[in-house]
Amino acid sequence: MSKPYFIPPIDEEPRMPGSEAELDPPPQWEPRYKGSERLKDKVAIVTGGDSGIGRAVAALFAREGADIAIVYLGGEEDADAAETKAFVENEGRKAITIAGDLGDVDFAKSVVAQTIDAFGKLDVLVSVAGEQHPDTDLGDITPEQLLRTFQSNIHSMFYLTQAALPHLKEGAAIINTTSITAYAGEKELLDYSSTKGAIVAFTRSLSAQLAPKKIRVNGVAPGPIWTPLNPFGGSTPEKLATFGADTPMGRPGQPNEVAPSYLFLACGDSSYMSGQVLHPNGGMIVNG
Ligand code: NAD
Ligand code: MG
Repeated sequence: MSKPYFIPPIDEEPRMPGSEAELDPPPQWEPRYKGSERLKDKVAIVTGGDSGIGRAVAALFAREGADIAIVYLGGEEDADAAETKAFVENEGRKAITIAGDLGDVDFAKSVVAQTIDAFGKLDVLVSVAGEQHPDTDLGDITPEQLLRTFQSNIHSMFYLTQAALPHLKEGAAIINTTSITAYAGEKELLDYSSTKGAIVAFTRSLSAQLAPKKIRVNGVAPGPIWTPLNPFGGSTPEKLATFGADTPMGRPGQPNEVAPSYLFLACGDSSYMSGQVLHPNGGMIVNG
């Protein structure tokens, strides 16, 4: 990317989650290939589907024939969610948008209920929603932030998967979003990277539990990807200035370079894989 990255004014409080429409340069999220009906007539829930990686997943799944429930936190993200929904509909598929806090167990239950109401079934559950807050010192992480980050990133997965499970049948797929930070560590993201480590363990354990039911559970561990998460307070301005430069490829990834990992894990192409994590991360070797 030739342009410098958008850095929000430092006298402004971080506005989280951010609005993708304000990012400069705009992330590349639209699918890069024609569809081949890999998810024909499937129904997927995509959390965090308004923006960033989740938006690219929703768009690619629609191109491959799926109807999508787009779940997101809300507020300033309504316009992003509406744009993702319009893309799905333009692919000839159906979409609903559901705004709320997945750290709240009742909301998580209502997401599944609304999806079943709208589409009558559920085949693929994709958890992408998450938040991160940088802190240089361990001591700066408040109990409130610690709890909040765990609620958004991992409690949400327990709640949503618990609610979804009664509807998932043989052949269904669950895909969770972890991070390079779970494998390589990140000195300014102790709470966030800990949730991502928990997500790896959750994915492996749930895979073992659900394999006899022929439901596959896998994960994706992105490296630095150009989405609202880091520019809108998830990184310090110093780190943002060289975002992605320390990967072997020397650049951040785009959401549409990550979404195909989710597609592979969602469809029958990965029928002999469960409990695994894919690493679209610009070439970093993580051995996991
Ligand atoms: P993003 O801000 O576009 O997406 C995150 C979404 O999560 C937001 O749109 C928001 O609506 C949703 N969300 C956050 N908290 C929520 C809550 N409590 N309830 C409901 N929705 C909530 O950013 P992104 O980079 O696309 O992030 C997607 C996922 O990818 C996150 O889990 C993030 O940890 C992970 N990830 C991102 C990167 C990266 O560099 N961007 C790297 C590794 C992992
Ligand atoms: Mg968003």
